[in-house]
Amino acid sequence: MVQLSVTLILLTALLGCAGHADPITDETYLLGTVIRVSIHDEGYKDSLIETVFERVAEIEARMSTSEDDYETTELLSVNRAAPDERTRVSPDTFEVLQSALEYSALSGGSFDVTIWPLVRLWKIGSGGTSVPPQEEIERARSLVDYTGLKLHSDGTVSLAREGMGVDVGAIAKGYAADEAARILSEAGVEHALLDFGGNILVIGAKPDNSPWRIGVQRPDAERSRYIGIVRTADRTVVTSGPYERFFEEDGVRYHHILNPKTGYPSRNGLEQVTIIAERSIDADALSTTCYVLGLEGALKLIEEFPDAEAVIVTETQEVYLTSGVERHTSAANRAATGGATDAEETEWADGAVVTTFELTDDEYRIVE
Ligand code: AMP
Ligand code: MG
Repeated sequence: MVQLSVTLILLTALLGCAGHADPITDETYLLGTVIRVSIHDEGYKDSLIETVFERVAEIEARMSTSEDDYETTELLSVNRAAPDERTRVSPDTFEVLQSALEYSALSGGSFDVTIWPLVRLWKIGSGGTSVPPQEEIERARSLVDYTGLKLHSDGTVSLAREGMGVDVGAIAKGYAADEAARILSEAGVEHALLDFGGNILVIGAKPDNSPWRIGVQRPDAERSRYIGIVRTADRTVVTSGPYERFFEEDGVRYHHILNPKTGYPSRNGLEQVTIIAERSIDADALSTTCYVLGLEGALKLIEEFPDAEAVIVTETQEVYLTSGVERHTSAANRAATGGATDAEETEWADGAVVTTFELTDDEYRIVE
């Protein structure tokens, strides 16, 4: 997952002292992406963010399946073990596998924690540049089967068949963000923003008690262009889409979210899925799951989770929102699409989290 983990010293030297209004911010490279932590309370030191980074590095060193970056990790050991051989893993890894297995079962295998043979074959985002031979795709696909992963009550795990393997790339970032937030909250932090490569987690509201504004990226555009804005507090906002890691061959884009049933990158009319939830491990798992499930399955699944909401974008630039997200359409967008009528700012009641989505890009429309 990672090549270098050099801390990029930003403005921390200037901002690190207590008693000022600016946040303390630091970032580093971990989990295959830039992760940034900003504490918006006064009186905290940079060393708290260092502690967070050390914890995330520990999670990475346990759960990475990158043979380029690590000689061994707990999950590489699991993947290299003989069939039914039990490998002891840390409580961290056990918990992530357990959760990943639950999402695998819940989605009937659209999300599959044993996706590793396909991930390793395609190598999308880690050097893969062409479509593998069909028979190799078939072979790898036949080894993807979450029912072959066993989690034993003594804290060990095993896989049923030679060549099987687990990969937690779809969920580990979420777990790491939750752990980071736990460390900050336990240290007394009440207002913070964590950005793990676009997976956002916010602690509390902003210091002035207004909601955080979190941009939902426009799928086909460069970073920092948004189709809309989520306003929320004490939540995590996680997006899965085909533009993070991919290669192109013969004009076709092959991206990193694979459909275990076909062995190919998932393609079902969805452009991206954003999940808003309380726990980042759930949001991370659900965004990947929903992306593979497709529109109908995704909407149905999210309505079963009282603590999760979704903003789903189709290839035809339609935006679907689940029932717990209040809709807003900017005036410009209303004029352009003839769409929804009400763009009033939601009152931010004390203590109550009201999650809203405001569409800001005229080329998209919210489907009611
Ligand atoms: P995300 O960016 O969170 O949607 O996760 C994508 C990553 O999850 C990929 O890079 C793979 O490591 C892994 N992955 C890809 N397809 C699946 C799948 N169908 N089920 C579970 N994990 C997957
Ligand atoms: Mg995910």
